[in-house]
Amino acid sequence: MDNKLQTTLALPTFAVAALALLEDAGFESWCVGGFVRDSLMGRPTNDIDIATPALWQQVREVFEAAGYKTFETGIAHGTLTVAKDGELMEVTTFRVDGTYSDRRHPDSVRFVSSIEEDLARRDFTINAIAYHPRRGILDPYGGRSDIASATIRTVGEASQRFTEDPLRILRGVRFASQLGFAIEEATFEAMSRQKELLDTVAVERIRLELDGVLCGEHVLEVLLACIDIIGQVIPELLPMKDFDQLNPHHIYDVLEHTARCVAYVTPVPLNRWAALFHDLGKPRTFFTDDEGVGHFHGHPKHSVEIARSIMNRLKFPTALKHDVLLLVEYHDRELGADPKAIKRMLLKLGGRVDLLYALTDLKRGDASAQAPQSAERVELALKIDEMLTSIVEDHQAFSLKDLAIDGSDVIALGVDAGPQVGVLLERALDGVIEEKCANDRESLLEYLKQAL
Ligand code: ATP
Ligand code: MG
Repeated sequence: MDNKLQTTLALPTFAVAALALLEDAGFESWCVGGFVRDSLMGRPTNDIDIATPALWQQVREVFEAAGYKTFETGIAHGTLTVAKDGELMEVTTFRVDGTYSDRRHPDSVRFVSSIEEDLARRDFTINAIAYHPRRGILDPYGGRSDIASATIRTVGEASQRFTEDPLRILRGVRFASQLGFAIEEATFEAMSRQKELLDTVAVERIRLELDGVLCGEHVLEVLLACIDIIGQVIPELLPMKDFDQLNPHHIYDVLEHTARCVAYVTPVPLNRWAALFHDLGKPRTFFTDDEGVGHFHGHPKHSVEIARSIMNRLKFPTALKHDVLLLVEYHDRELGADPKAIKRMLLKLGGRVDLLYALTDLKRGDASAQAPQSAERVELALKIDEMLTSIVEDHQAFSLKDLAIDGSDVIALGVDAGPQVGVLLERALDGVIEEKCANDRESLLEYLKQAL
């Protein structure tokens, strides 16, 4: 196949301009990586990577002279970020990598003069294609033919490439989930055989790739096909594999139920991680009754405990961890299509409307991944969403800040400043939610006086 086929990709004007600046300064540069891959696939894409023979200091000089802002985001390995009018691009010097002994960045990089050598150090053939608006496509490793056959294949010998940087094992899983491509046999064999190398990779890098795996469109297939690889970094998932629930409400084993639930919920990290973790506690709480039917009483509490330890180990941001744990804890809690119950749940969720929408999303995903007869519960979760929307639109009270009184009003009733004030405000809110009292100052004060 001709390596330099003239194909035109819709490179944004700002990227065309950046390439022209480098070329005018005598550096023959290329657009590489995700943009080229995604454009060839017809997928929307925005992040632009440019590869250039210029050293980062030269790149800085070229762009600063043209009025761009530059940021030293990765100069140790040759990357400078350049920006103009809010558009960002990463410009990286052609390089080959040394080993990654800290499993974060290559120990050393050697800058090289040819784009071909630079493409050789890239992970997968589909990511090792270069493009230039005038020179066209440069594809020495058959990336286009792998895109055409929807194949993930390493550039060069798989086991060597995974030894150099084991994170590539998880990147392969991530691309399979995002693109729906099959992993080529020798590549998959090396990923499976060398999965233990992932133990040496920095957890921050692992978590980011896992976010990508979970938010991919093809996560269901990938969670089932690659569970042993993913299980290397989250071994707590492995007991769910082939775990028969022996329960008429479940037609799938715990892992497949979980994978279907993940695929159902909105593809954002909060909802997807909560779905992945919601039933972690099932294997250890399993028992069968006299009829031989399986039950998992109290499993959410165990799921929370296991999920917490996973998220601590993988250094999740505190806020995300907090929210995921709340969803896991409440995923199985009865919630009716009843405004009072919805407001009580909102109270448990700290007044967070966004979290309650995520919870109903999880409940829908959970029900839809059980058995056909669970369709009713999918409907129920939809009804709850509608009610929640009207509660919010009507500005109905569901947290202390919505009350028509505050602490000073309670103190004015003769209560000592202190914890009792909070207790009484809670009671007032409870009265409003239970519709025993209207949310206006006079009614609330009257209601509290009776309680004093
Ligand atoms: P995305 O669309 O998710 O950004 P991407 O392909 O652009 O996908 P990046 O992580 O942004 O992925 O990396 C840009 C390019 O750098 C990749 O396409 C690949 O060529 C190369 N690359 C990134 N990480 C590695 C790695 N660990 N080993 C080898 N090559 C890599
Ligand atoms: Mg990218």
